Amino acid sequence: MYPAYSQTILEEPQTSYQNYIQQAKESPHWKQAEFDGFTLPAQGLSKPYCNKWISYGCDNIKQHPRNQHYAEHTLKTCKVSSCPLCFESWIGRQGNRSTKRLSKFLEKRRFSFRHIVLSPPPDQAVNLTYSGLKKWLQTALKVANIQTAMVIFHPFRFQDKKKSMPYLSPHFHLLVYGHVTNTTEFYNKTKWNIKNLGDLKTDKDIFTCTRYLLSHAGVKKGTHTVRYLGDISYRKLKVEKEGKIPHCPYCFLPLKIFSINFDSKHEPPPIDHVGLWNPNCFSPVDDIGNDTKIPFYEMNDDNESYSEELIYSFEELMHIKLNSNKICEHKYFYNQLKFKTSIRCRTIDSFC
Ligand SMILES: [Zn+2]
Ligand SMILES: [Zn+2]
Repeated sequence: MYPAYSQTILEEPQTSYQNYIQQAKESPHWKQAEFDGFTLPAQGLSKPYCNKWISYGCDNIKQHPRNQHYAEHTLKTCKVSSCPLCFESWIGRQGNRSTKRLSKFLEKRRFSFRHIVLSPPPDQAVNLTYSGLKKWLQTALKVANIQTAMVIFHPFRFQDKKKSMPYLSPHFHLLVYGHVTNTTEFYNKTKWNIKNLGDLKTDKDIFTCTRYLLSHAGVKKGTHTVRYLGDISYRKLKVEKEGKIPHCPYCFLPLKIFSINFDSKHEPPPIDHVGLWNPNCFSPVDDIGNDTKIPFYEMNDDNESYSEELIYSFEELMHIKLNSNKICEHKYFYNQLKFKTSIRCRTIDSFC
């Protein structure tokens, strides 16, 4: 009855996704696009630590193979949609979150989510505020009998295939669960246009579609870019939170932040290193109060070496404050253990 995502439709968002990402970084027109406080992603300012490396690791070397240090170098992101350096990782995280929520809802259900576009009459829409449009959408959804849906607001459409020139044309994209109304009747009742873009058959389809929609969504500080209505709302559907503190795969202690010793006799690890390395190359970063600065790393222009910069970063400072106690407790607990072999049994060898 409704078209499934055919190969051509699936390929289209792929290529235009890349176009949007490129234009977000390059197009001067994207900067100017503004509607009721909404802008396009990546048009704000980055912070000094964005897209730089942090040396996370574990120096509990007694419980590591060959008494080596475990390092897990990680790219820092500010997680903000308006950041020109971090917006792609914002899209990825937000896309994962939405996919997780929608998949969880689908676990015991027969049908898929369907991607639709709801557009109010353009000449009226451009004169309204976001909250006016949102209220109007609510009425339209009632007429269409849509209850369970994910909503993303797009204030703009694009004039060119390259996606470099946005123009004001507010509309909503929805991933809807359930029956979608007859289009002509809906238009006659509401003057809104409804367009069916097909079913999203797999988790991957949901992710690809969400990622595509986020790449040129309207973003505004303090406003949710993605909204969930009905049975997938935050109130009705609880989804496990991601982002637990990473742990050492060898001894299971929470990871600490280290600074890399460039003056040691040993070669420092590659900037993107994950795994065991010589412990002489690392010094732990201790909490010396609120002035503690965090060592961040960035490739030099030669593309071979990298250098350190000390930057204040609240999130990492909190990580140090919260974890130093935990690590002490863990260590104390291990030292009290009579049968340490039980820990060794859990050691993972495949990382060696
Ligand atoms: Zn950033
Ligand atoms: Zn460890």
